Amino acid sequence: MEDHFDIRFFGNGMTAQCPANPEFPYGIAIDLAEKNQKACTAKLPYPAPCIGRFMVKCGKCGRSILVSAAGRADDPTQVKIACQIQQPVPL
Ligand SMILES: [Zn+2]
Repeated sequence: MEDHFDIRFFGNGMTAQCPANPEFPYGIAIDLAEKNQKACTAKLPYPAPCIGRFMVKCGKCGRSILVSAAGRADDPTQVKIACQIQQPVPL
């Protein structure tokens, strides 16, 4: 399911100076979709190599979002985004 995502990481090469949140030792699953919304889930490379952001673009609907990461244990592991269903343009 995640294969239709284009995932790119934009890092600044720095590593986090603060310790990771101990409540999330295995990362955080981010859910940006409302209930009852059609949504896609993208798996992220975990943990991130450094402080930066993942750009996640859905190849099905074209929606893209940014998720920040810090190269720590509490980085995001996946993100669920609401799918924009593209309507055919009426002529
Ligand atoms: Zn989508």
